[in-house]
This record gives sequence, structure tokens and C-alpha cells, in this order.
Amino acid sequence: LATAESRATATPMMEQFIEIKAANPDSLLFYRMGDFYELFFEDAIDASRALGITLTKRGQHLGQDIPMCGVPVHAADDYLQKLISLGFRVAVCEQTEDPAEAKKRGSKSVVRRDVTRLVTPGTLTEEKLLDPSQSNFLMALARIKGSGEAQFGLAWIDISTGAFHVAESRLARLLADIARVEPRELILAENVFHDPDIRPLVDQLGRVATPQPGVLFDSATAEGRITRFYDLGSLDGFGSFSRAEMAAAAAVIAYVEKTQISERPPLGRPERESDGARLFIDPATRASLELVRTLSGARQGSLIKAIDRSVTAGGGRKLGEWLMAPLTDPAAINARLDGVSYLIGDSTLTDALRQALKGVADMPRALSRLALNRGGPRDLGAILAGVRAAGEIANLFDGMEVPEHLAAAASCLRNLPKEIEARLSATLGDELPLLKRDGGFVRTGASSELDELRALRDQSRRVIAGLQLSYAEETGVRSLKIKHNNVLGYFIEVTALNAGPLTEGDEAKAKYIHRQTMANAMRFTTTELSDLETRIANAAGEALAIELAAFDELVLLVVSQADAIKAAADALSVIDVTAALAELAQEQGYCRPKVDSSLAFEISAGRHPVVEQALRRQAEQPFVANDCDLSPPEGSGDGGAIWLLTGPNMGGKSTFLRQNALIAVMAQMGSFVPAGSAHIGVVDRLFSRVGASDDLARGRSTFMVEMVETAAILNQAGPHSLVILDEIGRGTATFDGLSIAWAAVEHLHAQNRCRALFATHFHELTALSEKLPRLSNATMKVKEWEGDVVFLHEVGPGAADRSYGIQVARLAGLPDAVVVRAREVLDLLESSERENPAARLVDDLPLFAMPAVREPAKPAKGPSESDAYLGELNPDDMTPREALDALYELKRRL
Ligand code: ADP
Repeated sequence: LATAESRATATPMMEQFIEIKAANPDSLLFYRMGDFYELFFEDAIDASRALGITLTKRGQHLGQDIPMCGVPVHAADDYLQKLISLGFRVAVCEQTEDPAEAKKRGSKSVVRRDVTRLVTPGTLTEEKLLDPSQSNFLMALARIKGSGEAQFGLAWIDISTGAFHVAESRLARLLADIARVEPRELILAENVFHDPDIRPLVDQLGRVATPQPGVLFDSATAEGRITRFYDLGSLDGFGSFSRAEMAAAAAVIAYVEKTQISERPPLGRPERESDGARLFIDPATRASLELVRTLSGARQGSLIKAIDRSVTAGGGRKLGEWLMAPLTDPAAINARLDGVSYLIGDSTLTDALRQALKGVADMPRALSRLALNRGGPRDLGAILAGVRAAGEIANLFDGMEVPEHLAAAASCLRNLPKEIEARLSATLGDELPLLKRDGGFVRTGASSELDELRALRDQSRRVIAGLQLSYAEETGVRSLKIKHNNVLGYFIEVTALNAGPLTEGDEAKAKYIHRQTMANAMRFTTTELSDLETRIANAAGEALAIELAAFDELVLLVVSQADAIKAAADALSVIDVTAALAELAQEQGYCRPKVDSSLAFEISAGRHPVVEQALRRQAEQPFVANDCDLSPPEGSGDGGAIWLLTGPNMGGKSTFLRQNALIAVMAQMGSFVPAGSAHIGVVDRLFSRVGASDDLARGRSTFMVEMVETAAILNQAGPHSLVILDEIGRGTATFDGLSIAWAAVEHLHAQNRCRALFATHFHELTALSEKLPRLSNATMKVKEWEGDVVFLHEVGPGAADRSYGIQVARLAGLPDAVVVRAREVLDLLESSERENPAARLVDDLPLFAMPAVREPAKPAKGPSESDAYLGELNPDDMTPREALDALYELKRRL
């Protein structure tokens, strides 16, 4: 498209389009023409297909029709949303001058246009394009290559709220660190994007990852870019960042500048997230525990859906943040828990808080839109509602001795300058329009000048009604009307038949000035009417100008207080989450977990938060609570306990495994937990392999996925980790599977030494408990009743004696004939005495010993012999030939 020939033959407008398009090759170009954004060429074809809108054509280019489609400007948000969600990026190109200006330059010249904004998934601010309950993060990944291991820096911002975080990472945990934030868009330098080390990560992230020019990530210029953005002399006040973090932070800023062109979102200062302060949850675990969405991608059925009682959008987002990044510092966790406990103890306060919070609008997002010059009167209204609620909530805390966590939030609210509420409420009306364009948002009484102009405008309407009456009387035409349209303004209209009295006679001719003749009507004006018209138009224009000036002034005020407003909004979110957790704990009968730095994991009467609520909703039998104790058993050396859980399918094994992991997550995010009591020594890393997550799309078999994930766990889990393993080895032949499961349990016990739950259908494994002091057997109890199996969902000590597979199959509706036949086969297999291989393993197999694997295997034959031979050699005295012979000899002796 951008060839010289193409340009030379294009119309001036097409020439402009082609030029702008060439500068934005990877975005759809929304080219503003009057009330439409038009798309041309390939863009038009793509967009019409994606949006289901009509593809037409406009003129020709190089002898071919130019495909075109368009979307009306007023509905652009809806189309943008659809395109962004389909993975497109859009460059919005506006007219940057009045068409009249262009005309002055000559009849052929085109209106100046420029791209004013690149719309990408990570840089949205429009209410319609965002999910109120979810953050919308844009993340930059920077890599610094030195002599040693490459350093990675991550920086992520939500320009719709101003949140800005940075952290360091390493290759091994990069994906986990990214997955925790769930960015909508991840930018990385082109060369990193194509690096084979990073490739698997890029594949995993799919469309989210987008390569960007390397200059954005240049660490040498990073500091300058950041100081310029914040208009600071130096970064001293920001705390210390590593080079990788700095490069990532600068890249994210550069990208914001690139996409927002001339506007500047009110980003907070970058906050550094230090390594180890958050519970590490790898992506597979995060997915399988269904923290924020189920394996099938739905929010319904996820943990967050079950526990979210927040009443504000900011609170919903904050809860998500807490859930995605539970803490590891017992003091910080207990500070949150103290807040929740306090609010549970004072339900009057909690109710009042929640009531007041309902009035809070989405302040941070409104603030961002205002700062980016995309805001409207309702955004100012949102700020007003927020600061009002903040004042009310601060008052509720007055004179109360609340825990530190809440006290800090309350003092943030008190720090809001009073001026904001005073000036906003003095100026803004009660009913606010979406757009400032037509005015009507400044309240009566706010400006006497405005009130007068409005009175004049309204009064003039009455004057016009009076005029119509007097003209009708004067002319005797009772049907005479004064009307208004955009072309003529106000005019007098009579039917053609009645035109006589206005057109005949000198006096009438002098007074009624003819404007237009229609098929069956005639239109006139009078000096009086056109004077009035001018007065009305002026008054309306002046009134609008006053309103717009007031708007700009308020925006200036609000943006100048952006930091205080954001801090208050954050405090409101914290209060909302804390009150919501208190509400949840009471409603669901949760208990406060005891959290410390021990290795304890002692849950009594624990429940699965999601399954419990689902059973209650379906009015099925209540959830059966179960205990779990993985604390290091006394006198068994250090290391957490492992529970080996057996039981039939459908017995409740997975539910039990997940519930304990979820209880740990909830406790460390600062929530009460679904249990009778819980004592949890903080977990630093949580690993779980539960259920077969299908990865077939990427061509990995279920077994392969299982092994990759198991490998990650066995390689990474440490003494403070919690490991949840379900049915390892299921995807392969029995003996293979059993052997892998066996070795995995031994490895967990001897090497990882972590607290672990291990569910298995290999009953043979239960024999291991005789040998491994920290391993105990537990089983899901069942009752047999008239040949059927009844699941009690109760965990008890011991091992399942049978697997009840056939009974379960029968429950599932397998044909009777098959069930009967299966019983026969089973009887035969069981009677043809297969010697229990596992019993032999326990007796004959030496204990799992890691060093034997790690050290290179000793040669079976004559190590000492070759050592001795080596010892006798004297390299200084040898000819090259002799040295070579000696080497051959050594090799022969191996
Ligand atoms: P398994 O992993 O042993 O095959 P699941 O954990 O999938 O079994 O549980 C099977 C079903 O039993 C679940 O759908 C759940 O509704 C129910 N269930 C599991 N645990 C309990 C419990 N503690 N109380 C009540 N119902 C339970």
C-alpha cells in the first residue's frame, strides 16, 4: 500500500490515509470522517468480518475498488470493545483542525488528521470496555543479560486506576510471576520475544504477549525516562530498583506514552514487590485450584465468586489482588485478620460501613479518564460520590480504637482535602449527562451569570410563544406556527393557501421576510424573530462556555489532588474487602486461622468453600467436614507430615485435597477459613496437581502434562511448601504408574520434606507407611449396603481395602450385563493369587537415597585399578604419543 506509485496516484485524502496507516501497520486504523470512523482496504475487510457490519466501497485505488466500512462515532466504544476482545489493536485517527481551516488552504486540501490514541487491551480506560471487578494490567518484561544468569524485571500498571508495581524475576519462575498478575497485555523486546528460552512462555501467553521495539527497553535511558514522566530531578525518593526492574518500569511508561500520545494517565509511583513476600503459586496450581476462574474459564464456580461479598468495584478488584497474591509474613497476615475480627465483633459498624460504601463509585477509573481528557460530568460525579462516602466513613471510625490496618485506612480518608467535596458539590447538578458537550451539568445557583443566561434562554422560548400568538392574530392565520430547524433557525410557517396575508400589501411585505417555499407551505422570518434568535443562540453558547470552563476547572482541581484521591480510593477498597470478609465469615461460619511461622498445618472440621455453598444451594445433604493434620509429627525429625489418601472414585478425595490448599490460600490472604479451627505455619510455595488438566491443544498428552507438573513440584518444593498431589501415575500402565507414584512419595518424604497430601488409587502405596515415619494413611470412608456403595465423604485413618470401581461404574449406569461380567473377571483376578508386589518392595527395596542418584555412577569394574594407573603416570615426562596411549588405556579400563 505504501509504495511510491500507490501514493502518487492516490487522491489527497487517500494519500493521507496511506501515510498514517503506514505508521501504524499492526493496528486497525479508525479514520475519522465527520460523524464516522471509516476503515479502508484490509482493515475494512477484517473489521467488517469481525463486527458483522456491511462492507462497501469508496472510490478506486490503482484501478481497484477500495473496500470500506464505518462505525458511527457515538457507538464507537461498543465496536472497540468487540475488536479488542477479539485481539485487534486500534489506532484512532481524529481530525485535528476545523474543516473550515482546511478550506482556507485551498479547495483540494484535506483536513489535518493524526492518530490521537492507540487502543490496546492493556491500555483501556472506558467504563464500557472494562470489567469493574477486575484490574486491567499492562505488563512489561525486561531482560538484562550479564555474565551470569539473565535478570528479569517485571513492571505492571493499570492505567485505569493508576496502580504501578515492579518486581524481579528469574527464568524458572517467570511464567508464574506473570500468571499471578494476569496481564491483559504483556510487552517485551523483539529480540527477547524471539529468544528460544522465552519462546515457550510466549506460546503459553498466546495473544497477550506482543513484541515491541528494543529501544523501549533500553536500560541505559530508563532512569531518564522515568524521572521525565514524573517530572522529578532524580529517583532517590522511589527506593532502590534493580536495573532489570528499572528497564521494565521505563518500558511500561514508554508504551503508555506511545499509545496515549499526548495524554498522561495519573500513574502512582512504582511499588516494589519484594521476592518472597507473596505466596508463590505456580500457574498449573493456580488454574487447578480454580481461584478466579474454573478450569473451563467461568467465574461461576471459582473461589473468588464464592467468597466475594464486596460492595464496590474497587473492593472487588482488591479482593482479587489479595487472592492472587496471598502474603507470607505472619505479622502482615495477622494485621489483616485483626481488621476482620474487629468488624465481626462490631456488626453495627460493619453494617454502617457497608451501607456507606454502596455510595462509592469507581473513583480511580473516573480519575484516570478525567486525567486522560476522556472524562465527562459523570466522572466528576463519581469523584464527588466517592469523597462524600469517604468523609462519611471516616466519621464512622471517629473515636474508635480500631486495629492498625483499619486505622491506617481511616486516616487516608481524613487526608482528603475538604476543598474537593466542597467545590464539586457546589458546582455539579444532581442529574449528570454522560458527555460535557451539551452542558446541563452545572447546578442552578452555582454561577449567577449562568443562571441569567439560562433564564434568558428559557424566557426567550416564552417570548417566541407570545410572538406566534400575536402574528397569528395580526394576520388572521390561526394555523401560523413558529418552528425551528438547524438550517433556518427559527422561522414562521404557514400553509401555501394561507400565505396571502403575509405576502400581500406593503406593510406585510416589509415585515414578513420570505425565506423558503415548500410544496405546500411557505416560510418567513421577521427582524424581531431573528434578533431573538441571535439572543437565544448567544445565550446558549455563552451558557455552554461557562459550563465547559467550570468543567475544566473542576478537572484541574481533581487531577491536582490525584494522589490523595487515589490513596483514599485504595483505603475504601481495603475497608470494603475487610468488611466483606467479616460478612462472609459470619454468613458462612468461618473461623479465624492461627497463622505463625511454624510448620504446623492443623485443620479441624475443614470444608471446601465452593462445594459447601453449592451443596447448600442445591439443598443436598450438608458438606461433611474433615480434619487434616500435616504438622511435623513429634519425634520424627524435622519435616512436614504426608498423608496418603486412598478411597474409591467419587469418594471425595479431590475435594478434600483442594479444600486444604484453599484454606491455606484464604488464611494467608487474610481471610477467615471454612473450618472449626485452623493452625497454619505460613506456606511459602503452594503446589498442586489435581485432576488432569487437558493440554491437548498444545499437543501434550495428559500423561506428559502430569509428569511435567510433577517434575516441577519435586524439583522446587521446600520445607515450607505445601504440596497437593492427586492420582500421580494414573495415565500409564499400572506398574509404571505405581513405580512413579512410589518414587514420588519417597522423594517428597526424604528430599522435599514438605507438608503434603497425596491421593492415589494405588493401594499398594499404603505399605510405605511402615517405612516412612512421617507418612500416614488416610482413607475416604464408604459403607456397603446391599451390594451398593454409599460415600460417607469422611476422612479417617487407615487404607481403603478395595476400590469399589465396579460399584461406582454401576452407579454411573453401566449396563447390568457388563457389571456382572466385570465382577466375574475381578473375582478371577483376585483369586489367581497375585503376590502383592508392594509388600515385597517394602521388604526388599533399600530406602530412597538421593545421593546415589546425584553422584555419577561409580564404574562397576576396577575403579581403584584405573586410579592406581593414573597415579603412576607422570605427564611431564610423557611424549604426546605416550599420553595418547595412556588415555586409550584408561578408557579401556573403564
Ligand atoms: P474423588 O476425587 O474421590 O473422585 P470428588 O472429590 O470428586 O471425589 O467428590 C465427588 C463428589 O462428592 C463431589 O462432587 C462432591 O459433591 C461430593 N463430596 C466430596 N466431598 C464431600 C464432602 N466432604 N461432603 C459432602 N459431599 C462431598
